[in-house]
Amino acid sequence: MFEISLPYIIVAYLAVILAVLFGVWVTGDWSRKRREKQDRKFRLVCNICGMPYEDRTRDPIPPCPNCDALNERIGLRDL
Ligand SMILES: [Zn+2]
Repeated sequence: MFEISLPYIIVAYLAVILAVLFGVWVTGDWSRKRREKQDRKFRLVCNICGMPYEDRTRDPIPPCPNCDALNERIGLRDL
């Protein structure tokens, strides 16, 4: 049999934990960005009254719930 030293076991254990934590972080960040991008597709800001609102219909020119002005769907950018 081969021998494994205690420091080697500790380093391997820490490397595995760090790899798992990195994977969880990357997956969570990717998921959050994807969800935010999906949500931004349905957000609009009224050109007349400036009210931000959400419209999940497929209407290309959804009306503003505040002033009934028709607003074109333009993607919002990141700040
Ligand atoms: Zn409006």
